[in-house]
Amino acid sequence: MTHPEQQRRAYLEALGIDVWLPRDHVDPDAEEPDVRVSAEGMDWPELRESVASCTRCALHQSRTQTVFGVGDPNANWMIIGEAPGAEEDRRGEPFVGRAGKLLDEMLRATGQKRAGVFIANILKCRPPNNRDPKPEESSECRAYLERQIELVQPKVILAVGRIAAHLLLETDTPVGRLRGIRHQLGDIPLVVTYHPAYLLRSPSQKSKSWADLCLARKIVAETA
Ligand code: URA
Repeated sequence: MTHPEQQRRAYLEALGIDVWLPRDHVDPDAEEPDVRVSAEGMDWPELRESVASCTRCALHQSRTQTVFGVGDPNANWMIIGEAPGAEEDRRGEPFVGRAGKLLDEMLRATGQKRAGVFIANILKCRPPNNRDPKPEESSECRAYLERQIELVQPKVILAVGRIAAHLLLETDTPVGRLRGIRHQLGDIPLVVTYHPAYLLRSPSQKSKSWADLCLARKIVAETA
């Protein structure tokens, strides 16, 4: 329904009468300002502080602390998971639970230490009961991850699990069909693999993840 004030203005304008508006007038027709978080141009300390004090979505109410990410800020590899779990929420570091231990082993098998890569998540706060991130949560958080990627400038991104793969590649193709091949996130090569939590439940799939890690290693070797 048309706002009565809009009707009055349209009427006055049609009569050629200038419409004067008070300085604090709020235009009901104005487009919603883009209120999504921006992390453009932030350096590491600014970004870290911005994440730590973030209240952009409801997850800030239930978190113990934010989980920013960890590792070498100039790493060749960037590992991107889904969201902190209970252990990560408690310790403030990504992938420190059982799945994280397996991730560490997988990295070690490629000749790398945890500290030599950069590990982050799509979400910086834990969703209650480890539920999937809601679309508004991942979209509010996305700018933080994008800035982390810009700052690290990795030679390869390893997206672990369905949530990370789908959000980064903007697809809903199953992980089984996304893995094993090279994708691009802008100018950065991206490899999808199974989430280590899934590998704990389905150890027979570990050989496929190993092949994905070898692909990521090959991509880095080729760009070195
Ligand atoms: N699973 C994730 O995707 N990220 C973590 O940090 C821990 C578990």
